[in-house]
Amino acid sequence: MNTIAPVTAPTLIDPFARLIKYVRLSVTDRCDFRCVYCMSENMQFLPRDHVLTLDEIARIGKIFSGLGVETFRLTGGEPLIRRDLPWLVEQLAAHSEVVMTTNGSRLTQFAKPLKKAGLSRLNISLDTLDEHQFHELTRIGHLKDVLNGIDAAQAAGFTIKLNVVIMKGRNDDQILPLVYFAHERGLDISFIEEMPLGVIDEHSRQLTFMPSDEVRQIIEQEIALAPSQYHTTGPSRYWQTASQLPSAPKSRIGFISPHSHNFCGDCNRVRVTSEGRLLLCLGNEQGTDLMPLLRGSATDHEIVERIKMALTMKPEKHHFDLNDTPQIVRFMNMTGG
Ligand code: SAM
Ligand code: SF4
Repeated sequence: MNTIAPVTAPTLIDPFARLIKYVRLSVTDRCDFRCVYCMSENMQFLPRDHVLTLDEIARIGKIFSGLGVETFRLTGGEPLIRRDLPWLVEQLAAHSEVVMTTNGSRLTQFAKPLKKAGLSRLNISLDTLDEHQFHELTRIGHLKDVLNGIDAAQAAGFTIKLNVVIMKGRNDDQILPLVYFAHERGLDISFIEEMPLGVIDEHSRQLTFMPSDEVRQIIEQEIALAPSQYHTTGPSRYWQTASQLPSAPKSRIGFISPHSHNFCGDCNRVRVTSEGRLLLCLGNEQGTDLMPLLRGSATDHEIVERIKMALTMKPEKHHFDLNDTPQIVRFMNMTGG
């Protein structure tokens, strides 16, 4: 009797039996803002020829898609600094879901072309609705650009989630205003605990760190919340309003809590930095450099073998500790947040 070998889909599984279905692609380390928690004021950016070309990123996407990856998140730095980004979205969307995290400042120009290119969803970062505070937190950004960007993205038909990093004494007065803003616009919102990536002289993370539970308590002073059944494949844990009052926010409220509620057990992702380094964990340095393969004569098969080999080093969890000197010296914009 003939035995037929079972057909198995190509998959990436790490040593802790976690299936990798999601890749974050950092398309640039550059940005038109200098957020205080993300980079230093005088950030030195990579020389342009050290950064992956969009063709190289498209090739990486095709290879990961062949390995069972279903979703790509474009991030940075500010992804919309790369003017031809809609072209990249179109290439990736031909085989996978493509989503993006952006500071929103250029969406008035890009929202429509991105929609047309096949981008599915947007996360837009917004830490305050106060113009003065916005300028202090981003150092060079203007709130109006982001608010106009949100309008443009909604008009183009995007589903949007707001990402907020709350820092005690800097923007914790904005928790409720941002929740109500999200509600009025029909947007979801996630509050992210600040992570110790990069050494930032003038900004002490121990002093400003605000755990998710404290953020939630502030929201619950005005709005009763109940855990939501809604789950994404990401690290956000969602709550929703428990009140039936018509005025109560209907948006889902997420919390990303790398410190207070470690989410590594469900990790389904890896990252590729703007210099082509495959990073296996946001909070560890294990990885492999794909750039020499991409710029050499390596075949796709050789790149696949390198990715699979690297995955055997994926750590079980991050080791963020606000009380230690940061072990991770790379800034978030280098990593692809
Ligand atoms: N420029 C885009 C933006 O701001 O949305 C994409 C890149 S940014 C690095 C991605 C996300 O990382 C943003 O939501 C930002 O707030 C978050 N982020 C940056 N540095 C962080 C840190 N040290 N801790 C927690 N979140 C951080
Ligand atoms: Fe730029 Fe985003 Fe970092 Fe702010 S968080 S500096 S917008 S990359």
